Amino acid sequence: MYRPFLLHRPLSPPLAWLGLSVLIFAACLVGIFARPIGFLSVFWPANALLLGLLVRYPRLARPPAWVAAAVGYVAADLVTGSSWSMALWLNGANLLGATAGWLVLRRLDERIRRLQRTISALYLLLAALAASAVGALAGCGAAPVYFNSPWTDLLSLWFSTELMNYMLIVPVVLAAPRADDPPPATQEVPLIWRVAPVSSLLLAEGVRTVIGGPGMLAFVVPGLLWCALSYSPFVSSLLSLVVCLWTMAGVATGVLNFTPAHASDVFSLRVGVTLLALGPLAVACASAARAEALRRLDHAVRHDDLTGVLARRALLKQGDRLLVRYQRESTGLAVMMVDVDHFKQVNDQHGHGAGDRLLVSIAQTMARALRPHDALGRMGGEEFAAVLPGVSPTEAQAIAERVRSAVEQQAPDPVEGGPQRATVSIGLVHSATMGSDADMDTLLLAADAALYRAKAEGRNRVMVG
Ligand code: GH3
Ligand code: MG
Ligand code: MG
Repeated sequence: MYRPFLLHRPLSPPLAWLGLSVLIFAACLVGIFARPIGFLSVFWPANALLLGLLVRYPRLARPPAWVAAAVGYVAADLVTGSSWSMALWLNGANLLGATAGWLVLRRLDERIRRLQRTISALYLLLAALAASAVGALAGCGAAPVYFNSPWTDLLSLWFSTELMNYMLIVPVVLAAPRADDPPPATQEVPLIWRVAPVSSLLLAEGVRTVIGGPGMLAFVVPGLLWCALSYSPFVSSLLSLVVCLWTMAGVATGVLNFTPAHASDVFSLRVGVTLLALGPLAVACASAARAEALRRLDHAVRHDDLTGVLARRALLKQGDRLLVRYQRESTGLAVMMVDVDHFKQVNDQHGHGAGDRLLVSIAQTMARALRPHDALGRMGGEEFAAVLPGVSPTEAQAIAERVRSAVEQQAPDPVEGGPQRATVSIGLVHSATMGSDADMDTLLLAADAALYRAKAEGRNRVMVG
């Protein structure tokens, strides 16, 4: 099931298609009211929204989606007084254009489509060019029939408007946050630095109004690049959309001193403004790709690749952090060392593969038996350690006993001939019994000594150090 736009629960396809129809209808009305009397709209978000949604939700992209969109398009034209023939022609061209863009993007890897790869911006440009060219070619013949103007005028107007709409709106739809996105890295960035990039855009806006001239169009580029480096692709493409539409509106109303006189100037202006957004978009995609690579690398370094629990170094670091925090509180924390009993025999009797499977299942069982905020790590071989913050010595003993018994009762290996039963020995210490200056190494050494006694006393037991 796909998860539409910011919703936590997936919609059923019929409901999603109905929603698409209503959305296209509404977007067309926005476009129609932005239309200078008797000619094409200056802002037409419907096609770009359709393309963005079809690419973002591949399960939506089935024939009913095209029917739903067509109903939305034609209904909007008919209720605003267009003739049937004009509504069918222009909207047929709209649908063809969006379909051309969808054909370019639909087979790409999901990460490219979600603007998390450096190459994403170029694919988006390619799709926008294809969609605008196909839409413009299919629609331009309507100019002499309905608008009493040469078809070449409509061709250039349609192409440039569409290119602008696709390049500015599709990235926003594709990069909009989803319910299953990993949480953003929690960096402590002071508020002043978080608002500085967007403030620089406002400053550039003021400066270019004062300076004017043809070069002023690019004055916002440094600010857009800064935003692309600082914010997510979603936020930065939203800012590009606002800045570019604002620029176009400023030029159109003469606020910005660059009034184009001819149709070819309008074409050049629209294409130019659109391409201004390409650089920041490429930068946003590249920094999203870098952030994702770093996130994966960080995860790989911090976790044990066999069992998925914390790696030794990450556990020790987290233990140090928790110790500093909980030693100040009256409850303190507990540390336990866990060693699988007679593990060598498992390897010898069932093979190394069965031994690995047993390590994975024991790690999972222990993670389930611990509390969500306890830290569990693999110290090496068949030895694990856990840090239990904010527990009394009695509570810690109960948790350690729960872990031991959970492993003893865990289901046998599903592979035939695999190990049937495993047990662990546990050494447990509590910070309250170790003196206030005990560090993580001291606690681990004491837990290890208790573990040694658990082994000596017959295994499958918890010993408190
Ligand atoms: P004890 O109850 O005294 O702990 O006995 P034991 O057999 O568990 O202890 P010993 O330290 O003699 O054996 C540990 C074995 O764990 C030896 C080593 O081959 C095996 N081992 C270490 N790392 C891995 C691993 O990643 N996978 C597998 N399958 N075996 C491992
Ligand atoms: Mg061992
Ligand atoms: Mg062992």
